[in-house]
Amino acid sequence: MTLNTEISSILWSKAKSLIPGGVNSPVRAFKSVGGDPLFIARGEGPYLFDADGNRFVDFCSSFGPLILGHAHPAVVEAVANAAKNGLSFGAPTEGEVKLAGKIASLSGRNLMTRMVNSGTEATMSAIRLARGVTGRSKLVKFSGCYHGHHDGLLVSAGSGVATFAVPDSVGVPEAYAKETLVTHLDDEAALEKIFDAHGNDIACVILEGVPANNGLLIQRKEYVEFIREITEKHGAMMILDEVITGFRLGPQGAAGYYDVDPDILTYGKVIGGGMPVGCYAGSKEVMENLAPVGAVYQAGTLSGNPVAMAAGIANLEVLEREDGWAKLERLGLVLDDEISEFIAGRGAVYERIGSIFWIAFQKSAPRRSEDIDKSGAAKYAKFHRALLESGTYFAPSAYEVAFLSTAMDEALVREQAKNIRAAFDAATK
Ligand SMILES: *Cc1c(COP(=O)(O)O)cnc(C)c1O
Repeated sequence: MTLNTEISSILWSKAKSLIPGGVNSPVRAFKSVGGDPLFIARGEGPYLFDADGNRFVDFCSSFGPLILGHAHPAVVEAVANAAKNGLSFGAPTEGEVKLAGKIASLSGRNLMTRMVNSGTEATMSAIRLARGVTGRSKLVKFSGCYHGHHDGLLVSAGSGVATFAVPDSVGVPEAYAKETLVTHLDDEAALEKIFDAHGNDIACVILEGVPANNGLLIQRKEYVEFIREITEKHGAMMILDEVITGFRLGPQGAAGYYDVDPDILTYGKVIGGGMPVGCYAGSKEVMENLAPVGAVYQAGTLSGNPVAMAAGIANLEVLEREDGWAKLERLGLVLDDEISEFIAGRGAVYERIGSIFWIAFQKSAPRRSEDIDKSGAAKYAKFHRALLESGTYFAPSAYEVAFLSTAMDEALVREQAKNIRAAFDAATK
């Protein structure tokens, strides 16, 4: 089946004349899978509808926030009610207190939370806080981990271990990138070497909860524990970036999964239920270094926005009330049952953790971004196209993961698994 994309095509050519590359975030442009992006008109439960009226089951989930699916009635109602009372005040509102309380109680940690407007802002601010508290300037990140687009984090590994970072984008001053040390995941010795050389200058190590922005690179528990130990030993902070995993892997996120206690946690995506929300959180002792109590400055005109807070609170309340995480794990097991053997039997990789899964056209599951077979991307492009044509919407990049939502049910997952198997065969024949 070929899709009717008449209206999307018209919108796409207009968009390209008014918006750089036609998009407000690069991956949306479908560059790595080919074809033109579809313009989405609306979403309902597990479904997306494009401007031409094509319907898709959505596994992209806006790249992570939509754990309840689209337009969940409780979230929409909360947003509408909040909007009626005014969109922004630049003054404290009850919603901020409620969402901060919800984050602390669900995570089971004594967290103080500072709200911002995106995941990027959350990690950027968390790093400033870590630098402010430690009085040090260097940070360590892992190649393949994405923490947003700010200077200093938008870097990939230089050649070899413990080299200074090379910016991933022009416009990032080398001086910023020099403060960023990059190493690969899953290698205690490499990290140890960096600490041996720079231990007294390292403010923090930042790690994705479960790296899920460059394939799904599930880490060993002992490795994450090692990161906790080595940071503690050298007086550096550990930042666990839970922007994807927070309140998705379960109420305690990746920190709960690894049973680790980071100094600062960053959240986004699910905590906003589809609205622009991020936050960073930690103990009172750490967080009270922020202005107006402490000397680390960070602010935001729209931070803690009442409409966004209402969406986040409703999203988390529904998850908690319906035990969404247990439902998602059940759906995950259904998906395993349908495609795990099929994909392994064809010599490819299917990885899943909770409601996050990834299919990779290579022989073994990577733990490091360096172990991702780049030649899989061409197969993914065909896979993606075949899925679209059968009414299944995956993210338009081989390195993006797929998400289950609580709006799906067992029958839908089984039906969609058929599409996934057929598209896999179409891509690899
Ligand atoms: C999406 C993401 C970010 C960036 O969040 P934005 O809201 O897109 O700025 C940061 N860290 C991780 C782990 C993410 O998945």
